[in-house]
Order: sequence, then C-alpha cells, then structure tokens
Amino acid sequence: MPRVLAAAFKHETNTFSPLPTDLAAYAARCLRHGADIPAYFQGTATEMGAFIDAGHRHGWDLVHTVAADATPSGKVTREAFDTIAGTIEAALRDQRPFDAVLLCLHGAMVAEHVDDGEGELLRRLRAVAGEHLPIGITLDLHANVTDAMAQRASVIVSYRTYPHVDQYDTGKRCADLIARTLDGEIRPACTVARGPMIDALDHGRTTAPGPMLETLAHADSLRARTPGVLDIGINAGFPWADIDAAGPSVVIVYDRKAGLRDTAPIAATLLERIWRDRRRTTVQPLPLQAGMAAIADALALPGDGMVLVADGADNPGGGGLEDSVALLGALIDAGIDRVAFGMICDPATLQACIAAGPGATLGVQLGGHSGGAFLGPLALRVQVVSVQPGQFTFTGPMSRGITLDIGPTAVVRVGGIDIVVAGTRHQVLDPGFFTHAGLDPAHYDLVVVKSSQHFRAAFGPMARTILVIDSGDGLTSFDLAAFGHTRVRRPVHPLDELPD
Ligand SMILES: [Zn+2]
Repeated sequence: MPRVLAAAFKHETNTFSPLPTDLAAYAARCLRHGADIPAYFQGTATEMGAFIDAGHRHGWDLVHTVAADATPSGKVTREAFDTIAGTIEAALRDQRPFDAVLLCLHGAMVAEHVDDGEGELLRRLRAVAGEHLPIGITLDLHANVTDAMAQRASVIVSYRTYPHVDQYDTGKRCADLIARTLDGEIRPACTVARGPMIDALDHGRTTAPGPMLETLAHADSLRARTPGVLDIGINAGFPWADIDAAGPSVVIVYDRKAGLRDTAPIAATLLERIWRDRRRTTVQPLPLQAGMAAIADALALPGDGMVLVADGADNPGGGGLEDSVALLGALIDAGIDRVAFGMICDPATLQACIAAGPGATLGVQLGGHSGGAFLGPLALRVQVVSVQPGQFTFTGPMSRGITLDIGPTAVVRVGGIDIVVAGTRHQVLDPGFFTHAGLDPAHYDLVVVKSSQHFRAAFGPMARTILVIDSGDGLTSFDLAAFGHTRVRRPVHPLDELPD
C-alpha cells in the first residue's frame, strides 16, 4: 500500500499589510493536526477533501500532518513558517518511508525571511526526500508561481474558477496525476513562464465570458493536441505582493517519458494572448461617488432580489483589514434603509457591544483603526441588536461543508443599516456570515459584503443587481500604482508604460 504524506500550508500574503501572519492568525482560521484533519475535511468541497477521497480510491495509506490556513494578511512570521513547515518536514523525515507527498498550497505566500514561501517549503522537503520523490501541489489561481516552485514540484495543479468553486476538482486532478506517477505510467515535471505584467486575465474571473475563460479554453486545446502535456495551469497572480515573480503565469506539467522536447512554445503562445488581453475586464469597479449613484439607481428600479454591493477595496480575502468605513459612512450619510453590511472587524467595538448587551444604545468609534493613509473611524451611536457566537457551516458552493468559528459577533443598527461587527477578519463569501447572527440577506434591499469576487458564488443568485465599488480606502484597491511596489521586476504592466 503506497504511503502518501498529506498537508496543507496556505497563505495569500499582501505585503502591503502591516498585520503579521502569526500562529494565532492560523489558529483563527485553520490549524489542525493528525487525525483531526480527515475528521474535519472528509466530505468537504476542498482540495484536502479530494486528497482523502483519492486515498480511498487508490488504496493509499494517507498520513496526515498539519493543515494550516490563515486569512490573507501581511508576511508570515518566521516563527509561524518554521513551525508549520517544520511539522511537515519532520513528518517526512521521521515517519518514512513515503512514496509521494500531496500539498494544498496557495502559491502567494511571503514570509518575513523569504519572498517565496512555497519555494522554500519545497526546498526543505526536497532536502529530506531527495530529487525523485513525487510531490504534487495544488495552488490557488492567484498564485505567484516562482521558478523554484516549478523546479521542485513534480506536479502543480491550479484552480480554474474564480470564485474558487473547483477546489475539490483541483485536488482530484493533482492526486490522480500522482497516482499515475506511482503506477509508473508517467514521470511528471513542471515549467513556469510569466510576462512583464502583474495584472492581467481579468484577475482570473470566470463569472462572465472574458480573458480567463478564453485562455483556459486555448490551454485545453493546446494540451489536447500536444502529446506529453499533462496539465496547463493559467494563474492570474496576486498583484498586492511586492516580490520579483508576482503576476500571471503559465504552468505546464509534462511527462518526461513522452519525449516532449520543449514546453516553451506553448507557454509563449498563451502568454502572448494574456498580454494582448491584459486590459480586458468583465467587471469595472466603480469609484465611491459613482458607486453611490449606481446604488441609488439600482434601488429605484423594481425587481426581485437584493442589490448586492462588494466593498472591493477592503477585501479581507486579499489582505484587506476589513475595517474600512468609507463605503459604510457614505451609506449612512445617504440615509439608505433595509441594508445588511457584513462585516467590520473591530475587536474594541465588539467588546463594548458585548458589555452593553442587546437593546443597549452606545457611542462607538467604528472601524478605521488601521491608520496610515486610510480613513479614520466613524463616530456613531449604535443600537446593539444581538450578540452571538460566530460558528457556522458554509452552505454556498465555495468551501461547502467547512465549519468556521469566527468568535463572538454583534449586530449593531445605525438608522436602517444592520452591521455585523466581528473580532476577526474573514472574507464574506458565504451567507453564514449573516445567518449565524440571525440576519437573512434575502430580507434586505441592499446587502454589502467585504469581498471582491468570491461573494458571487453564494450571493449572486439572490441578487437583482451586482455592483463592485472601489473606494480606494483599503489594501485591495485596484489602483495598483498607488501601492508603491519596489521589489517587483521592472518594467512591468500596469506600473510602467510598455509598448504593445
Ligand atoms: Zn484566489
């Protein structure tokens, strides 16, 4: 029975965030060990859920070590990196022999001491396991894939959807390639190529016809007619990481047994297409003032379902601090009723609301505590509607079945706006962020979420209109030139003017 080591070590690092990603940040989202991992992930729509099923299907002895994931934020601390990477490394060394390794990664991890977190993890594992042990990794399509990752992994498989509703399929594709490797059918290796751009492919969106879906279709046709190509990954990259290799990439997994001489022409063809289409988008985020006008227009039109608004500049799923109140303040000033706003992360306000209790009215300084160039807090008088534990299970298409405990939350009311106040940061991509607090999003005229695209999977079908607003007040604003990159390779689109 083949023995396969499985682990997850994920992070999407926004290097402009002042918030270090430490072990507490992992514990707040997911930090599980050993037998707790299959108990938690079995039956979920995740890569690890797929690895577990593949283990049963292929008759593997799947050995679990650690599964770690943290909400996107600043650099991973050296302590957190060494602890989690060290756990995987120790298992590989101390529990051998192993026939293969399967890792759920993100691909955009930056640690305090190393810009290429995944490349460093793989270096440490290769130092223990040698060059020949098959290592299969899954990546988010917002991965910044480095040369070191491609050299050290045997198989790299990336998501093909954004919202990421194909986490399970991605894990299955990766595990099945490793199974074929263990059977001796293939001998896989990877290459990566990127162009002079940190932003293209419509940020990877697959919710409307556009460059991402067209490039994936092109990649599929090239794979189908090129013997020896096992998988082609189209990665949109993560532009809020100021590292040399940030940006879109093409990863080709090929079979060294098949005699394919060179993958470079395939990568070049796809990169040429990505470059040509770099300015095409399917969503054009609106600045705040135009966004408020669009909200008023949308509410004035009749229709079924809510008006759904993404506060895209402050998406915790990309490292936003989830405490920008620029859009919230504009909604309060506009006096709009029947609004659900999820969420503002503000531990001090949350504690004050818990102390005051439901029914109380109190003055708070809500959000805006991150300082720097960002808007300060809103001085508000709020009514505490409810206080509750923040535990729920995802019911939407993304990460369905995953249970999450975000700690206590409060709902506060200002005028006609119900605001979920949390003590921890999480992208609002599932109705559970409202329903755990007794709010049914379908009962509101306007629902605002701290997200930029993932919300579409679960909330989109409930909406009559969807708007994305980029207030500029947050760490995931699409105004990339405002961030001040200094380490990314130059010249690079869209930071520099480059000839077509
Ligand atoms: Zn992503």
